[in-house]
Amino acid sequence: MFASMPTPVNDPTQGFCRDCLGLQRAVKQRCEVCGSPRLARHAELYDLSLAHIDCDAFYAAVEKRDRPELRDRPVIIGGGKRGVVSTACYIARIRGVRSAMPMFKALEACPDAVVIKPDMEKYVAVGRQVRAMMQALTPLVEPISIDEAFLDLAGTQKLHGRPPALVLADFARRVEREVGITVSVGLSYCKFLAKVASDMAKPRGFSVIGDAEALSFLADKPVSLIWGVGKAFEATLAEGGIRTIGQLQTMERNELLRRYGTMGDRLHRLSRGQDERQVHPEHDAKSVSAETTFDKDLATFDDLVPILRALSEQVSARLKKSGIAGRTVVLKLKSADFRIKTRNRQLADATRLADRIFATGLELLRRETDGTRYRLLGIGVSDLSDDGRADPPDLVDVQSRKRALAEGAVDQLRAKFGGKAVETGYTFGRGSRGRLPRPDEE
Ligand SMILES: [Mg+2]
Repeated sequence: MFASMPTPVNDPTQGFCRDCLGLQRAVKQRCEVCGSPRLARHAELYDLSLAHIDCDAFYAAVEKRDRPELRDRPVIIGGGKRGVVSTACYIARIRGVRSAMPMFKALEACPDAVVIKPDMEKYVAVGRQVRAMMQALTPLVEPISIDEAFLDLAGTQKLHGRPPALVLADFARRVEREVGITVSVGLSYCKFLAKVASDMAKPRGFSVIGDAEALSFLADKPVSLIWGVGKAFEATLAEGGIRTIGQLQTMERNELLRRYGTMGDRLHRLSRGQDERQVHPEHDAKSVSAETTFDKDLATFDDLVPILRALSEQVSARLKKSGIAGRTVVLKLKSADFRIKTRNRQLADATRLADRIFATGLELLRRETDGTRYRLLGIGVSDLSDDGRADPPDLVDVQSRKRALAEGAVDQLRAKFGGKAVETGYTFGRGSRGRLPRPDEE
């Protein structure tokens, strides 16, 4: 079918139909081939290759697929002991039901909702099925959670015989047919805007944000759109009179750095649509990690920090014992409604030091403490190697070298007097409401 098709050209008046994939030759409201109104057009449509794909109301969509009689009913996934909404279908959302809302409130807003207990095993299986379909498009698939991932389709045009935009539209179509749920696609040139785009027209969305429009697109958006700007940081920015991304665009990088430290650099770059982060594919490389489930959900940074510190030390101890080091630090969080988030950061060189694992985990954690209540925290490293070249003396950062030396001294004391002989400021004397992990906890 595609062999006979003309090569798609970048022309905002052309584009294609998302239902039949037919190429369009003129600006019309409906597809020239099948009459569908779902057309994709954009001046950079065939140049862009970075995508974010997100399943629509995932858990609820899977349940509706399996129980067609619920198709037109408001469906809420959740309940159980903790009594919060995990996922609401779009019908329930229109009535005001939101994720993480207490169930009694959700039922006040939508009394005729059908409440279904989550069947995680089933959702994981469906999530894997969708992921396998993504991995058939490109090896560069970076899963963000059970139902969303980044895909880098650069250089795949020859393989697929068509540009990424068409590959993605076809993917969305196939997921509907073969899996029975829907996805939304965001297509852009960087991760930040691909993610923003996938969120723009849910459900069954297909949104494109090009390079040329990035600045103007972002200008009137709230600062909270930027990754890492949670409620607390949003308030900090508001104190300085900054509410829109456009305001950030007018500020000098140095000024932002002076006011907000390393976060200032992120604000400067992302406000201008500059995001060089690559898509890191999921690899089965082993990791060393430690995690713990709390007795009571925790939400604040201060409550989570001492636990992160203790876990970092466990991971470090295991690495040192095995003579290995890891280059990617992975933070794992499970929210009160059982959503698992993992965040990772690659370091310049592999580490086995608790201090570096902790410091990196801390940066990742800071962005996730936005009021969300968590039931589990984990930290680990992946990209393992032997520790021969780990933690090279860092001439630029004298402080980190001092810390490494200090940590070596602490390790020696611990080896001599046992693990509890030396406690750092973070785990010692801070009243943590979380249960600190046992040393053997994985
Ligand atoms: Mg989703």
